[in-house]
Amino acid sequence: MAADAHPPIEELAARIRAFVDRELIPLEAEFLKNAAALEPVLEAKREEVRKLGLWALALPREAGGQGLPLAQFARVSEELGRTPTGHYVFGVQAPDIGNAELLHLAGTPEQKEQYLKPLVAGRVRSCFAMTEPHTAGANPVLLSTRAVREGDEYVIDGHKWFCSSADGATFAIIMAVTDPDAPPYQRASMFLADTSNPGWKFVRNIPVMGEAHGGYFSHAEIRLEKLRVPVSARLGPEGAGFLLAQERLGPGRIHHCMRWLGICARAQEELCKRAVRREIAPGKRLADTQLVQSWIAENAADIACSRALVMQVAEHAEKHGFKAAREEVGIIKFQVAGALQRVLDRTLQAHGALGMTDDAFVAFAFRHERAARIYDGPDEVHKLSVAKQILKRYR
Ligand SMILES: Cc1cc2nc3c(=O)[nH]c(=O)nc-3n(C[C@H](O)[C@H](O)[C@H](O)COP(=O)(O)OP(=O)(O)OC[C@H]3O[C@@H](n4cnc5c(N)ncnc54)[C@H](O)[C@@H]3O)c2cc1C
Repeated sequence: MAADAHPPIEELAARIRAFVDRELIPLEAEFLKNAAALEPVLEAKREEVRKLGLWALALPREAGGQGLPLAQFARVSEELGRTPTGHYVFGVQAPDIGNAELLHLAGTPEQKEQYLKPLVAGRVRSCFAMTEPHTAGANPVLLSTRAVREGDEYVIDGHKWFCSSADGATFAIIMAVTDPDAPPYQRASMFLADTSNPGWKFVRNIPVMGEAHGGYFSHAEIRLEKLRVPVSARLGPEGAGFLLAQERLGPGRIHHCMRWLGICARAQEELCKRAVRREIAPGKRLADTQLVQSWIAENAADIACSRALVMQVAEHAEKHGFKAAREEVGIIKFQVAGALQRVLDRTLQAHGALGMTDDAFVAFAFRHERAARIYDGPDEVHKLSVAKQILKRYR
C-alpha cells in the first residue's frame, strides 16, 4: 500500500475478508486443539500479510505502522474479529497494539529503538502486567507491587496475574508503586522489563474457562522477585503510571469493541447458516420458526446499534482526543460487551448441543468472550464512571 494513501475502506475490508475466509477460518479447528502449536503456521500467514502490504494497519506511521484512521480501522477490525487469529495475523493484536501505542507516546528514543521497532515489525511480542491476584483490579490505585529506587536502578517486587500473552513475550510493561505516600493517581509508574530478567518469574499459564493456552493466547501468572531495571527503563515520568494507563486503555477499549463486532457478525452468519439447514420437523427448518427469526432480528439490532455507536465514538475520539471521549468510551465498553454476550447466547442456543462443542465457532467465542465484561474495567465500574460524569452536569 502506498505510504500516503489507503485504498477505499470497503475495498480494503473486502480484501481482508477474503483473506480471513480463505486462510484463517479453515485453521480454527487446529487452533482450538492447540493454539501454541499453530504459531509456526500463523507466522507464515503473517509473512503473507506483510507481503500484501496489510501489516500493522492501525499503528501510527512514525511507529512503523500504516496510520489507518481509527474509524476506518473499526471496519477492518470487524473483518479480522470474525476469527480468533485475525488480529494476530495482521499485526494489530492486543496487548501488543496498546503497548506499541504507549511506547510511541511516552518512550524515549532508546526505548523506541529497543522495544517499539521490533514490536511493530512483529519480531517480538510483549505483555502488560498491571492486575494482581490480591488487590482489586477494578480499582488499580490499590495495587501493591513496589518499585524501590536504589541508586541508578529500581528494584521491583510483586505478584501479577492475567498478563495476557506473557508466555513467549520478550518484554513486559509493568505497573508498580513508586511513591506509596503520593496522591492515589500519582503513586505508580510504568517500567519496561525483559522477560529474560532473572527477577521475572513465570509461574503458570492460567486455565481460563477450561483452556490453558500457551504462547500468544496465554494469560499468565508472574512473580516479580527483586527484579532490577535501570532508571532508563522507566516509561514516562515517575508517578505517571495511571495517566499513561488511561492513555493506553482509551484506544484499547475502542479496539476491543471493534473486534467484538466482528465476533458478533460471525456468530450471526453461523446462526443463519444453521437455521436454514437444520430440519426440526418434517419440511420445517429452524429458520421457519418465529422465535429463531426473532433472535436473528435481535442479533441484527444489537450489531447495528453497536456498530453505529462504535463508529461515532471512534470518529469523536479521533477528532477531539480520547480524554474528550471518555464518557462515550465507557458507554461502548459495557454496551457492546453486553450486545456481544446476547448475540453469542442466542447463537449458541440455536445450535443446540452442537453449540456446546468446539465443532462450532460459537462455543469458543462464548467462553472466551465472557471476559469482555470484565477486562479493561468491569461493566459496573464503567457504568459508575459514566453516571458520575452525567450527574456532574446536574449537581
Ligand atoms: C481474559 C482476561 C485478560 C486480561 N488481561 C490483562 C492483561 O493483559 N494485563 C492486566 O494487567 N490485566 C489483565 N486482565 C485483568 C482485568 O483487567 C481485571 O480482571 C479487571 O480490571 C477486574 O479486576 P479484578 O479481576 O481484580 O476484579 P475485582 O476488582 O476484584 O472486581 C470484581 C467484580 O466486582 C465488581 N466491582 C468492582 N468494583 C466495583 C465497584 N466500584 N462498584 C460495583 N461493582 C464493582 C465487578 O463486577 C467486578 O467484576 C485480564 C482479565 C481477563 C479476564
